[in-house]
Amino acid sequence: MDTQAIIRLAVGLYVLATLVVFFRLVAGKIAFVRHGHPESRADHIGRRIAIFFIEVLGQTKVRKRLTAGWAHAMIFWGFLAFAISTLNLLDRLAVGGQGFLVGPLDWFDIVVDVFAALIILGCVVLAVRRYVVKPTYLTYHSHESGIVLAAIAVIAVTHLGERYLAGTTSTYFGYAHLMVAFTFLAYVPTSKHFHILGAPFNSVLQQLQDHQKMDFMDLEKELDESKGEAYGFNRLEHLGWKDRLDLITCIECGRCQEACPAYATGKLLSPRDFIVDLKYHAAGKQPHGKQAAVAREAFAAAGGSVDGVDFESQPLVDHVIAQQTLWECTTCMACVQACPVDIDHLSMLLNMRRYQVLDVGDIEPEYQRVFTSMERTGDPWGYGEHRKTETLESLGDVPVAEPGEEFDVLFWVGCWGLYDDRSIESTRATLKVLRYFDVDFRILGDSEVCCGENYRRMGNELQFQMNAQTNLELFGAVKFNRLVVTNPHCHQVFNKDYRDFVPEDWNGTPFEVVSVEQLVHELVAKKGLPGREDLGKVAYHDSCFYGRYNGIYDEQRALVKAGGGEIVELERNREHAFCCGAGGGNFWREEAEPRVSWNRAAEIMKSGAPTLAVSCPFCMAMLEDGLKVQEGYEEHPVQVKHVVEIVADAIPEPVAAETAAH
Ligand code: SF4
Ligand code: SF4
Repeated sequence: MDTQAIIRLAVGLYVLATLVVFFRLVAGKIAFVRHGHPESRADHIGRRIAIFFIEVLGQTKVRKRLTAGWAHAMIFWGFLAFAISTLNLLDRLAVGGQGFLVGPLDWFDIVVDVFAALIILGCVVLAVRRYVVKPTYLTYHSHESGIVLAAIAVIAVTHLGERYLAGTTSTYFGYAHLMVAFTFLAYVPTSKHFHILGAPFNSVLQQLQDHQKMDFMDLEKELDESKGEAYGFNRLEHLGWKDRLDLITCIECGRCQEACPAYATGKLLSPRDFIVDLKYHAAGKQPHGKQAAVAREAFAAAGGSVDGVDFESQPLVDHVIAQQTLWECTTCMACVQACPVDIDHLSMLLNMRRYQVLDVGDIEPEYQRVFTSMERTGDPWGYGEHRKTETLESLGDVPVAEPGEEFDVLFWVGCWGLYDDRSIESTRATLKVLRYFDVDFRILGDSEVCCGENYRRMGNELQFQMNAQTNLELFGAVKFNRLVVTNPHCHQVFNKDYRDFVPEDWNGTPFEVVSVEQLVHELVAKKGLPGREDLGKVAYHDSCFYGRYNGIYDEQRALVKAGGGEIVELERNREHAFCCGAGGGNFWREEAEPRVSWNRAAEIMKSGAPTLAVSCPFCMAMLEDGLKVQEGYEEHPVQVKHVVEIVADAIPEPVAAETAAH
């Protein structure tokens, strides 16, 4: 056997060995994912195929970040090209064949050459970013990234060497290419670069039905703890298979952390650490982030021990994840939106809250106060029924739905519109607008109970389901086409979360849930609005629950314009908008300073607009307070208005009183 034959055999055996390692490691990952609770993702097949071609192959989400995004995309496309050309080389050098990229397929090697050059460029860009620029969100395992960048660059260089050098030098470059490429393949499942394999599946299998609807929870079902069943999550064995796929797919890129309002204002919560620390725990490693250290301290302080307990059964909260971080989340969804591989941090985090509330009963005292108020008085503030009655009386003659009645619009006034002084003004504005446009509407009067959105996202599933049941009975007693809300949190639950609870004989939700802005936008488009000339510049703050949760961005802006305002876009707008800080029950907590609302308020002040339009009562309360503590506010105060109030202001009183004949 000559030297070349011996080398060929050695390379062939090495490649075989790396493939065995690779498949064994991947089988381990698959087993980890399969161990999760079942969940169907067999819906929306067409959309999933589109996601594969557009988001995965087109790298659209990754490329949202200009420099690093394009560098990653280049490497991804280059790898697809290499997957084919390396097999071709394997056939030629290790198997002794002619290769399959011959004849009419000759051109493909040129394409790979171009990608090899782009890959080298991409590696240089990413190395400079990671080791010279050093953004704060890239702190996890940078040595691992260094190894990978070097390996990728070597794969590209050896490809070019094999192609453009002559004789045995070319052949040795070819062998080196095969050895490094297949070593890299075996290394991938052991590192964060598993995302190369996991991300396409994770993106294609993301939740599409009713995005960010919380999972259905059957509170009547008897739980079998031996099967890892629980109300919510507190151990790895409680997670669903998709949650597990999320964990092992994380690239540790930190985009979620960069977008997180809690992290931006110095809280302990980082959505990146939340995912990465769970991932490390699942891999049997000790997470090294700040929040994990706090969790471990809490565990030690409570005298906890996991001796002899396997990783699947060890507690997560206050062992791997600090409980404090759970309550700091504003449920703004910015992390989910930012993640290039479609990881759903929020669903796992909220399930951990559920466990704390339902299974452990370990609740933040401020949350407990809200839950108690709801039980005692029926409203989160604890005002009591009399306040609702007083508000309704103060609103004058408002048509209240009678059982069996049929009409077009049910105006859901909501807790804020009934109990909060400032939001009662928005209720008046809504009534004025509905009357002006001659809408056939009713309200439910004093029978409304809170929609329950806050309770659900605070972890109190029991209270949420009780409220949902009551409200669905009220809806079922009348017949209407559209349920109109002035609060995006009510919109989210009525439109999505309630669907799991509607009676079977309804065959789905028999009415459409629309924001007051959507309804009024439609009416203004048909019938026009008198308008005001002098409103001037108006900054618009996108609420998380209309924006990222439901993609409702345009109607509010159009109405501000129709009402005589000139829209000023805030720096972070639409899907990149920064939260007001109220969501997920944080409105009811005494937030550590600096507050999320201050961060947003500073941006609003910078816009120079004297008016801020919002479409959510939570945002209105948070930002009104946040603006007042801003430097320069006294000289340049900002008036905060609900969009519907801007529309109402554009309707002259006498015309409104007459109910314009349209
Ligand atoms: S939902 Fe918002 S606050 Fe919560 S972790 Fe994600 S980005 Fe942070
Ligand atoms: S969860 Fe997503 S955005 Fe966050 S670090 Fe991991 S891959 Fe990046």
